[in-house]
Amino acid sequence: MADHIAILGLGTMGAGMASNLLKGGFSLAVYNRTAAKAHALVSAGARLASTPAEAAKGASIVIGMLADDAASREVWTGKYGALEGSSHGAILIESSTVSPAWIAELAGLAAKRGAELLDAPVTGSRMQAEAGQLTFLVGGSEKALEAATPVLQSMSKQIVLLGPVGSGAKMKLINNFLCGVQVASLAEGLTWIERSGLNREQALSVLKSGAPGSPLFSAISERMVNHDYAVNFLLRLMTKDLAYAHAEATNCDVDLKTAEVARGLFQSAIEKGFAEEDMAAVIEPLRAK
Ligand code: NAP
Repeated sequence: MADHIAILGLGTMGAGMASNLLKGGFSLAVYNRTAAKAHALVSAGARLASTPAEAAKGASIVIGMLADDAASREVWTGKYGALEGSSHGAILIESSTVSPAWIAELAGLAAKRGAELLDAPVTGSRMQAEAGQLTFLVGGSEKALEAATPVLQSMSKQIVLLGPVGSGAKMKLINNFLCGVQVASLAEGLTWIERSGLNREQALSVLKSGAPGSPLFSAISERMVNHDYAVNFLLRLMTKDLAYAHAEATNCDVDLKTAEVARGLFQSAIEKGFAEEDMAAVIEPLRAK
């Protein structure tokens, strides 16, 4: 298989992933709605396409790394969308965190073009994307994954095949449901600590080394303490993930009440102007109360 690759979406995650594809020696076409974000990648050897269709043309593997269902739909199926340019036999990889319902629809549209879809959302954030240390949660056929593995390996430390197409999207929403609820409860817990008269550093140290501690707890509590909201994961994207998780769990007759409460906290942070900050900023409206 030829090694022409295309990546659609050069945001926080897509930019790091594209840079590792170039380091992996792949011939890379890039597309981003805001073309200016592609400059550094073009200097490093990527070819800038002016439409998703142009990026996908001649590529054996096309990867999407976009904000949400609406962005993914626009880039794959909109005017001059990537499906229009995709070759028969191409493997299309949707790495955005999107709903399983949209993945099912996109898989059908890909099949109509003679292409095959893998859903492969990722865990890891900006730093792991830049370092090529993501984990891909994959749904789809073993054969397509085998063909895509060298490409995915250049961006990751782990690739997990979870089942048929849609399985990666489901796994990712469960993962982010648990992360979102933990970040929201940490925001409440830390606000409580700050008003309790306890020594904040000592209290956090007890929690980090005890049962509630986790890599997420450590990273996010540090950002909250330092009021450091430089974007690793946009607050509005976590709000989106909690909404998708809630809808998806409902399909399995599970009512994610904690997701709804957490989403309420993220939503009020959006209303207070924190949508474009890191998700750790969810604590700020609580502190201000
Ligand atoms: P981001 O920085 O906001 O980038 C979003 C990308 O989507 C940008 O390329 C943006 O283009 C594009 N986009 C948004 N709306 C669009 C539209 N209507 N039409 C065309 N393009 C559109 O997000 P990110 O952090 O890279 O995340 C990308 C995906 O990975 C999301 O689904 C997110 O939930 C998931 N994810 C993120 C992280 C993380 O830690 N950041 C970790 C795991 C998974 P412009 O540049 O023109 O705005």
